Formats: sequence, C-alpha cells, structure tokens
Amino acid sequence: MKSPLSVALLALTALLAGPAVAQDYKSGIEWQEPPVVTPGPTNSEPPSDAVVLFDGTDMSAFTGGKWEVKEGAVYSGKGYVTTKQEFGDMQLHVEWSAPTVVKGNGQGRGNSGVYIMGKYEVQVLDSYDNPTYFDGQAASIYKQTPPMVNAMRKPGEWNTYDIFWTAPRFKVNGDVETPAYVTVVHNGILVLNHFELMGPSSYTDAPHYKVHGPTGPISFQDHGNPVRFRNIWVRELHPPVGRRVSPPYVMSGGKKMSVADYTAQKERQKKDKALQREKEAAVKAAVKAALQEFEAKQAAKQAAADAAAAAAAEAADKAEAAADKPK
Ligand code: MG
Repeated sequence: MKSPLSVALLALTALLAGPAVAQDYKSGIEWQEPPVVTPGPTNSEPPSDAVVLFDGTDMSAFTGGKWEVKEGAVYSGKGYVTTKQEFGDMQLHVEWSAPTVVKGNGQGRGNSGVYIMGKYEVQVLDSYDNPTYFDGQAASIYKQTPPMVNAMRKPGEWNTYDIFWTAPRFKVNGDVETPAYVTVVHNGILVLNHFELMGPSSYTDAPHYKVHGPTGPISFQDHGNPVRFRNIWVRELHPPVGRRVSPPYVMSGGKKMSVADYTAQKERQKKDKALQREKEAAVKAAVKAALQEFEAKQAAKQAAADAAAAAAAEAADKAEAAADKPK
C-alpha cells in the first residue's frame, strides 16, 4: 500500500507537470501522391510501369547484332545488340545463363556484358568455379570493382541481375557534377551497394568520364560465347515530387511553432523538470527526517515507560518477599 506521503507527492508532481500537449512535426513539403504501380506476379516479372525490352518472343526493342531467339530466350550472337530507346536513372532486370556445355576458361567462358548507357559494363561471365581477375568476374564493374561476393549459379541455370542505376551528371563546361552510381543484386544477393563509377569501362584505358547526355541505350555484349538472356525489362526512375510550402514546423497544442522555438521550449522544459525533481527530493528528505525524529522520540518515551514499569514491578516483588519472610 502507498503511504499517504507518496500519494500526496505523486499528485503534486502531476499538478506541476500540467496537462499533456499534443506535438506533431510537419516537414512543410506538400508531396504529390506516389503513382500506383502493380507488381508482376513474381518479383522477376515486369511491373505495370516497366518497359519490356525482351519478353522471350522478339528483339524488336533492339538494333544491331545477329542474335537468335529460341525457346523463350535470346542467344548472344554476332555483334552487340542495343536498345532503340534510351534511359537515364533506372532499375534494370536481366536474366542470363552461361552455356550448359562449359567451354574455355577465365574471360573466355560465358562472357557477355550489360553496357549501361552504352558505356558502363556490368560484367556477365560464367564465374562458377572459373578463376579470373576479380574485377572482371560476373557482376563486377569491369576493371573498376569486383562484386562483394560471388553469387553465381551453375552453368545452364538462370541468373538474375537487378541493377539500380544513377546516371552521371555533367556541368555545362563538361566537368563531372556527380558521378554514376550502381547497385547490383545478383540472384537476390546484394553484390554492389551504391558503387561510385570512375568512368566508362575500357579494356585498355584508365576509366575517366567524358561528357554525355542524360540518357543512353543499353547494349549487350558479344564476346563470342553463346550466353542466353531472357526477361529483360527496365523502369525509368523518377524521384518523389514535392513542393516546399513553408519551413518545417511543429504543431504544439494546436499552435504552429518554428522548429527552433520548439527546440528551445523543450530545452526549457527539460531544465524546469530537473529543478522540479530536485525540489521534490528535498521535500521528501525533510519529511523522512522529521518522521524518523518523531519515531525515535516515541521509541525513547516507550523505553522509559517500560523501564519504570519494570522497576515498579521489581520493587513490588521485593516488598512481597519481605512480608512473606518468617519472623
Ligand atoms: Mg564482358
């Protein structure tokens, strides 16, 4: 059971704290509703806003190269194939399979490549038990970085690449404003996380940027190996759209406050609370000391009374004994 003292102190604390005030941070940005996109039946299949580049039937989205479509897949053949449409920032899904019959080794086994904006190669290679230089294995950015891990499936099995691309931006004078970034998920495994590219891929040259437009086509490499591809689709990326209508603010007890005022108010409240806690502790200590003093006095009184009673009883006993003594 709570003592009357602690009940009184709790009531006092609640009274001093005052009623709770609702607070609600607002960014001051008026966001447009994000468009609704219907996902595919599985995460490998194109969602409703995807541009399908190859659905297993025809290569009409591409130009160049002589690549054969067979049994729902396209086999890399002579020459590069390149999309007619150009893309900038995007999410690109590609499925590919290294030849079932393993031929060659190193860079000569199951080599192809996804050339983003026609320049930046995400390597396609049969990297299943096939040593080569690490920044040239599957899912590397060719000669710039290896993938974090080797997530290859066996030759003949289907691999998926989900590539998230941020195109480089250039200043009017041709200097790089922001470089290209790429994130690659290989068979559901994150293998490159927001990697910053140093420039286009080259076999001979050190990578360095040369100014180009905000979009470019996607090319698939002919490296002389019959790599199969299927289910290629791309989504153009548009950031969420918002308009700042005011600086950020806080709704506090129905009133609009600037973030600075709100922060200062919170600091003041924190200091007031600490002070309040100190005062409460002092009151509690004083009350406790007074109680202890009172109890000690009571105990001393009781002890004195007990001692007097005992002495009286002893005296009575003695008197009784003396009276009983035979004379
Ligand atoms: Mg290649």
